[in-house]
Amino acid sequence: MATGYKEGSLDAPTRHALPWREESWYDEAALDAELRRVFDICHGCRRCFNLCDSFPKLFDMIDESPNEEVEDLSAGQIKQVVDACTLCDMCFMVKCPYVPPHEFNLDFPHLMLRYRAVEHRKGETSKADRLLAETDRNGKLGSVLSDVANWATDGKSETTRGIMQQMLGIDKRAHLPKFADIPLTNRAVALVPAPNPDAPGFGRRVALYASCYDQFNDQTPGEAAVKVLAHNGVEVRIEHPECCAMPKLENGDIPAVASAAARVAAHFAPLIDQGYDVVAITASCALMMKFEWPLIEPDNEDIRKLSAATHDISEYIVKLSKQAGLTPVEAMDASIGVHFACHSRAQNMGPKAMEMLKLIPEAKPVLTERCSGHGGKWGIYQQNFDTAVKLARPAVRSLEKTAPDYMVSECPLAGSHLKQVMEQGGAAKLPERIGHPVELMAKAYGL
Ligand code: SF4
Ligand code: SF4
Repeated sequence: MATGYKEGSLDAPTRHALPWREESWYDEAALDAELRRVFDICHGCRRCFNLCDSFPKLFDMIDESPNEEVEDLSAGQIKQVVDACTLCDMCFMVKCPYVPPHEFNLDFPHLMLRYRAVEHRKGETSKADRLLAETDRNGKLGSVLSDVANWATDGKSETTRGIMQQMLGIDKRAHLPKFADIPLTNRAVALVPAPNPDAPGFGRRVALYASCYDQFNDQTPGEAAVKVLAHNGVEVRIEHPECCAMPKLENGDIPAVASAAARVAAHFAPLIDQGYDVVAITASCALMMKFEWPLIEPDNEDIRKLSAATHDISEYIVKLSKQAGLTPVEAMDASIGVHFACHSRAQNMGPKAMEMLKLIPEAKPVLTERCSGHGGKWGIYQQNFDTAVKLARPAVRSLEKTAPDYMVSECPLAGSHLKQVMEQGGAAKLPERIGHPVELMAKAYGL
């Protein structure tokens, strides 16, 4: 499957469908040989030395081994490389010259995924990873008991955070998202305004896919997206049939991802037939729906249809502005630090948040491309938190360089992690929040 434009290369990279139903994919000797083949190529190349913690670990371990050979690595050392990977996709999308159709046929993130799929099949996924991947169940429970849940997970609740650290390995210093007391879809009737019939986008229909985070935690980006779209004439409905299963993908639980993908795609198929575009508020969900699901279930017609109909919210607003025009946006003389989240970059659509914010007259967005280091649930674990903070520092420095009036990120977890690292670093000018770029569009519209 071709994934479109690739940064730094003229060739369109392709990604093979994941053969997760074939027994040979789980053969541990074959996997070990493939890991060593790929690690050897990477060790010679080293381009990805500063993308994450996996590559420096890999290179150091080979360099410090007796013969400086990949064959010297123990099984435990290989696991360390896999465990340091957040599946951000950056090495495949941005840097690697050896991805298919190159004969080296190298797809580092999907090799890490294969390792985790083998671990998952053997029942070796940790209890914490399994619990945290049940985002819908956790979100429903957290919403019903929001007062208690928000108190227990707050960084100031030392006893409960200490228990969570001991039982689940969640670092007590890591910021955890608050729960909303009512899920976003339950507020849809009150929240979604009638589309403006005089606006250029009138006649278009959007089914807005709320991520678990939009549904159960921070609803500000969803509210802003609804208002901006309706103000531009678009008829909007909010949908959250279930989680996109990114946390289960991180666990290597491919069968669970495949069944979630089939159910969500079946939910959206009739809406697409009725003329709805599907728009994801959170970048990770858009990545799953556009690219990962079709590689897991390439023969599922609903999934193919959903993949083609899915847009990221910034991408959709930019597209709307080009195809139909936008309701005039008020000028906003403000500098904006824009964090280009990995799962937004991995969609191969260019920095759409930048393009969208440039639609605000007098706004001055400045792009930061460095990874936040958070990586879904990866960064909250005790064994990863300090590394997640270290990895965030270049992104924080870049964001702070222009002392912007606002900071935004298309990844909500990256945004709150970056803010926490700024707080720890004693930033002179702390942002009130690092929200989604669409919130600034809503602000510019005075919504
Ligand atoms: S997918 Fe991301 S975290 Fe994993 S190895 Fe590649 S760049 Fe590193
Ligand atoms: S993933 Fe590709 S670009 Fe990165 S170090 Fe390996 S071979 Fe080089």
